[in-house]
Amino acid sequence: MLYFVFKKKPIELIMKNGWETVIGLEIHAQLGTESKIFCGCSTRFGDQPNSNTCPVCLGLPGALPVLNQRVVELGARAALALGLQINERSIFARKNYFYPDLPKGYQISQYDQPFSANGELEIMTARRDEAGHPLEWEPKKIRITRLHLEEDAGKNVHEGLPDVDRFSYIDLNRAGTPLAEIVTEPEFRSSWEAHDYVNHVRRALRWVGASEADMEKGNLRCEANVSVRRVGDESFGTKVELKNLNSVRFMQRAIEFEIDRQITLLEAGGRVSQETRLWDERAQETRVMRSKEEAHDYRYFPEPDLAPLEVSAAFIAGVQAAMPELPEARRQRFVQQYDLSFSDASQLTSERTLADYYESTVAASGNARTSANWIRSELLRELESAGLTASAAPVSPAELGKLLRLVEEDKISGKQGKEVLVEMFKTGKSAAAIVAEQGLVQVSDTAEIDRVIDEILAANQGQLASYRSGKEALFGFFVGQVMKASKGKANPRIVNERLKAKLTE
Ligand SMILES: [Zn+2]
Repeated sequence: MLYFVFKKKPIELIMKNGWETVIGLEIHAQLGTESKIFCGCSTRFGDQPNSNTCPVCLGLPGALPVLNQRVVELGARAALALGLQINERSIFARKNYFYPDLPKGYQISQYDQPFSANGELEIMTARRDEAGHPLEWEPKKIRITRLHLEEDAGKNVHEGLPDVDRFSYIDLNRAGTPLAEIVTEPEFRSSWEAHDYVNHVRRALRWVGASEADMEKGNLRCEANVSVRRVGDESFGTKVELKNLNSVRFMQRAIEFEIDRQITLLEAGGRVSQETRLWDERAQETRVMRSKEEAHDYRYFPEPDLAPLEVSAAFIAGVQAAMPELPEARRQRFVQQYDLSFSDASQLTSERTLADYYESTVAASGNARTSANWIRSELLRELESAGLTASAAPVSPAELGKLLRLVEEDKISGKQGKEVLVEMFKTGKSAAAIVAEQGLVQVSDTAEIDRVIDEILAANQGQLASYRSGKEALFGFFVGQVMKASKGKANPRIVNERLKAKLTE
């Protein structure tokens, strides 16, 4: 019975009930190189099965691995973006296990001397209401244990081929693709903290060009270790490893389900067993994949075919110097330099290309606030419906800036400006060309507007008398008539001002 009570309460109520959640995360991110980590084969996605293979990634006897330097550069970018220290010397190790998609019988990874370690990363995280909307964002420091380099395995294909009930098909195009594995300390106390951390890491990796970090394409994968304990307990509860988390939202739901399951089990006097569970999105539950008894003993030992990886201070300094301003720093600068709110600045720094777009627009329009408003509402809506990112926007920041100047200088109204932007987006034409074509001009000439107002008042004597005897709601009627008479071209601000003046004359 308790089960349903927990399921509907937010995390802090679970804690009040005497339980605390402990979560650690492992992320595997594919580093964005063109060739594999230990051979020259292409990492291109979607090619003919097994076409991007060679003796090294097929694991043929006698083939020797050679480390791809670009992997080290991108690994270093990832490490620095996440606040990790890069070790001057790290060791590749063999992780031994048997699986059909791993032809060598071992994966080349790193074990006791990883590429980088001891990271501390500040993320922004928020508790959520029941619908999942963030309440208040707060900073939280996350300790990252390590980031190491390793190769990916191939893929078993179980669908869409003849006789799949009798055969497994193996595609080794992915075998040898470079990965960075990023492991945290058991730092997270709620599923939303884990959610916000993974989003932070995804954005950071994309931002510095280390990885595409797209969970849908499988080039960013997550695993969560989840346990619960009584508040005040020093030792950790038994942890369960969650796999098959194909999106950040799925991961958050899987963790939430798992917390409920473990607390319910413990409250009923049961025990949590150490096991690996898979998230079933359709059933909205986790299921046992394997128990501790079936866990692998990987018998790690140093890879004899690769020399220790030595990274000089000069190399690290070079990578550091080539790094862009990081997203958190840029958001803070946007708040200070452009006087934006935290949430506006966060949205505009959600992708590096969008942040670049914004700053170029500010340069062209000369107005930081207006640029932010138009990009956040008008441009992002158009981009979203076209399925584009800012870097591919058909309207350049310079052109958007010119459009905003037309509005700012009262040459066209804000409403007209929005229509012009949609047209620019559709046709790729300049703002000036569309304004000229459609004869869009805003009339801001006071004498001209006064003339129209006088006509309208003369033609509506009855309404004028009612207004003057106290029916002030008729003000909107007069505005509407004037706008109509000017074919929508009168500047609404001036119409309002002049009407007020004339009605109280
Ligand atoms: Zn190869």
